[in-house]
Amino acid sequence: MSRLGVGEFHSFDAAGRRFLYLVPSAAIFALDDPARALLDRLADQPLGRADLLAEVSSRFPDTDLDATLSELEQVHAIRTVPDVPAPTPPPPPPPNIIPLTPFPLTTAVLNVTNQCNLSCTYCYEYSEDKIVDTTNGSQPKFMSEETARQSVDLLLRESGDIQVVHVSFFGGETLMNYPVLSQVVPYACEQAAAQGKRVEFNLTTNATLLTSEMIGFLAEHNISVTVSIDGPREMQNRFRVFHDGGGSYDVLLPRVRELLQRHTSRPIGARVTLTSQVNDIVSIYRHLTEEIGFQEVGFAPVTTAPGRDYELGPSGFDEMVAQFKALADEFLESALAGRHHGFSNVSETLEEIHKGLSKAYPCGAGLGLMGIATGGDVGLCHRFAGSDEHRLGTVTDGIDREAQNAFLGRHHLANKPDCHSCWARPLCSGGCYHEAHTRYGSTEHANLHYCEWIRGWTDICLSVYGELAERNPEFLSRFN
Ligand code: SF4
Ligand code: SF4
Repeated sequence: MSRLGVGEFHSFDAAGRRFLYLVPSAAIFALDDPARALLDRLADQPLGRADLLAEVSSRFPDTDLDATLSELEQVHAIRTVPDVPAPTPPPPPPPNIIPLTPFPLTTAVLNVTNQCNLSCTYCYEYSEDKIVDTTNGSQPKFMSEETARQSVDLLLRESGDIQVVHVSFFGGETLMNYPVLSQVVPYACEQAAAQGKRVEFNLTTNATLLTSEMIGFLAEHNISVTVSIDGPREMQNRFRVFHDGGGSYDVLLPRVRELLQRHTSRPIGARVTLTSQVNDIVSIYRHLTEEIGFQEVGFAPVTTAPGRDYELGPSGFDEMVAQFKALADEFLESALAGRHHGFSNVSETLEEIHKGLSKAYPCGAGLGLMGIATGGDVGLCHRFAGSDEHRLGTVTDGIDREAQNAFLGRHHLANKPDCHSCWARPLCSGGCYHEAHTRYGSTEHANLHYCEWIRGWTDICLSVYGELAERNPEFLSRFN
């Protein structure tokens, strides 16, 4: 007689009840008391169906436990386990990954320059960990207008039936090539309209070169802006310095204030890089939202090889999770009261949970998103643009579908055995390729140094999700 055991899930508590995050389906399942009792009883050891029902039924005499059990089996929270342990299976054959051809390109990230007027110590483009030689390499310092136009042409050509495509401007410091940027935006709008499509733009900048004219242009063209800024003066000036070592805070502040005042059609976001020395997350959040006026603030730990003095070590990650939790609690309180809260790390993860994402790849790099280097080489994303090793085509020759398929085959979650028993894999899928390349020398490696923080953070967001699902489900409908 077969026995029943628990399936693969991560359980969490929210709003006074137990939930399951069902890993194979990335679905969330709320338990009532009888369902919880059935699962709790199986947690220690598998049991025959009749024995399980008999044991639990005395506590729930009025419940159709058989129906509850069947429901748990249907969602694979409970599964049948063999009586005799199966012999150790032979190693599985290599996964048969069906190439996704042609996968539409939805986002082109244009590295309009690889030059920067700042000299941030931890910068992935200029620090010891850089991938592309931006000083002596083959890529030009600035993207030409022709290459920018060809990038737009490539995006529209490769976007298939997608109606809304995205152009992101990145650098270096993006605004050092404002002349090209300001030319290619109207060109992209015209070309897209001629093909019955629409383009959305966003731009990342350190804001130190923003002028009133540029702000007017960004507002007029409805361009989303993300400002790279690390917090109050002292924190900003720790690493985000000019080439002469001078701090950038006082230069960017009046420019950001004008941007926030005049560009109101899109939320203006701040993006903070956390290091061992800039890690007071709650204070940074308060400063950027309450004192400067950013609507959204996102945080990311610095990408670095091990051993750099600005690296967030294990205790730094623990502290980061604790502070993220404090801000996530605030986010929840605001969401329950129908107020906006700008901690974008939570809203982004909630959206992924709500949509039931189960990723075979950690992000869109090399899939629907590609980075275009100043000279027109197409790479995995903005961080790899210009790297010969990670090239997936050029703007003139198009996407090298063979190279893309080889990349997708090698990087599929099926090829990351370290992640196969991890409950957070539907959302993490091994983590950022650039982080892995910097840390382990290979984009194919899972980012095992930050698993604890990924799982801790995912658990926090699941709890926020469960609270909202119970107490203000209307809030979640924005993610539909
Ligand atoms: S990298 Fe770590 S947290 Fe992410 S899926 Fe793999 S094992 Fe899980
Ligand atoms: S590889 Fe890393 S940096 Fe590039 S898009 Fe993915 S997550 Fe972002």
